[in-house]
Amino acid sequence: FDMFVLAFVERLFRPTFRKDDFVLGKKLGEGSFGVVYRVTLAKKPSSKEGDLVLKKATEYGAVEIWMNERVRRACANSCADFVYGFLERSTKKTPEYWLIWRFEGDATLADLLQSRDFPYNVETLILGEVQDLPKGLERENKIIQTIIRQLLFALDGLHSTGIVHRDIKPQNIIFSEGSRTFKIIDLGAATDLRVGINYIPKEFLLDPRYAAPEQYIMSTQTPSAPSAPVATALSPVLWQLNLPDRFDIYSTGLIFLQMAFPGLRSDNSLIQFNRQLKRCDYDLVAWRKTVEPRCGAELRRGFELLDLDGGIGWELLTSMVRYKARQRLSAKAALAHPYFDKEGLLALSIMQ
Ligand code: ADP
Ligand code: MG
Repeated sequence: FDMFVLAFVERLFRPTFRKDDFVLGKKLGEGSFGVVYRVTLAKKPSSKEGDLVLKKATEYGAVEIWMNERVRRACANSCADFVYGFLERSTKKTPEYWLIWRFEGDATLADLLQSRDFPYNVETLILGEVQDLPKGLERENKIIQTIIRQLLFALDGLHSTGIVHRDIKPQNIIFSEGSRTFKIIDLGAATDLRVGINYIPKEFLLDPRYAAPEQYIMSTQTPSAPSAPVATALSPVLWQLNLPDRFDIYSTGLIFLQMAFPGLRSDNSLIQFNRQLKRCDYDLVAWRKTVEPRCGAELRRGFELLDLDGGIGWELLTSMVRYKARQRLSAKAALAHPYFDKEGLLALSIMQ
């Protein structure tokens, strides 16, 4: 009950907005469920406070607002800073949900991965300066380790709150220039099992490129769409039984893979990789055995990176990308993996 009072009081004292408060800027994205724009506040167009992002969403926007409100109260640092969400029905016949966030920065992990300079471009962003050090595998591994750690950290926050994101991919990870860390965005496909919100997986929302083999996050024996109170009573048990959070871990493993292997960064090559992995019954070790003997220099370099320090990176990767959800590490367990024992980038040890 206290939670509700707190939430209510918090809402009372937070600024509220309406449609006319915003001036639309550049379009940042367009999916099947909404359009995203950079916007400024009409009253403070040039202040830092006025640097915002707006998503005009369809009916699913209601769930996304709910998820963002919950994240802000429970694990604010995991995701982009949510400002406000409301139902806008003034002009159009179909209602639209408007969601507002702080503008976190220009680059998603997808943008950064596409650059030839990856991962050094990320190092510069995190440290705020270009390091005058020789380039090489060790340094790249350090940067990748730092990125994966930040991702797992954000995911652990979400999962501990009871939220599974279900659409973890480089396009939905934004580099926050303010905190110099990666944050998760786009809770449009997320589910909160502890309260039964969006309980039935909207499987059509799942991105096949990054989706774990279990299409349905909850097992098919799980009763569908229980009312909220039933879900509250059941969900901790269901969470234990089905480990739905491991869906996000699989996706994160694929991102790890893409960071290590430049040749797997394009959509087509990732799709082809997924086909190969499926043929190997989702066994990464078996996949490695089939590709390594006849692989080119670039792929070999990726394996070399993962094999550093006694193959500890490869060990972590194979503990994330596994067919069975229960054999994958949780975000918390992954953070305790020896891969992270070595120091990452300097900025990280200062900030965390
Ligand atoms: P969708 O995928 O449903 O179109 P997203 O929430 O993923 O919507 O946002 C689309 C794009 O907008 C992102 O890929 C990112 O480039 C940009 N974006 C979203 N939120 C922010 C934010 N808080 N700060 C900066 N850019 C953002
Ligand atoms: Mg998105």
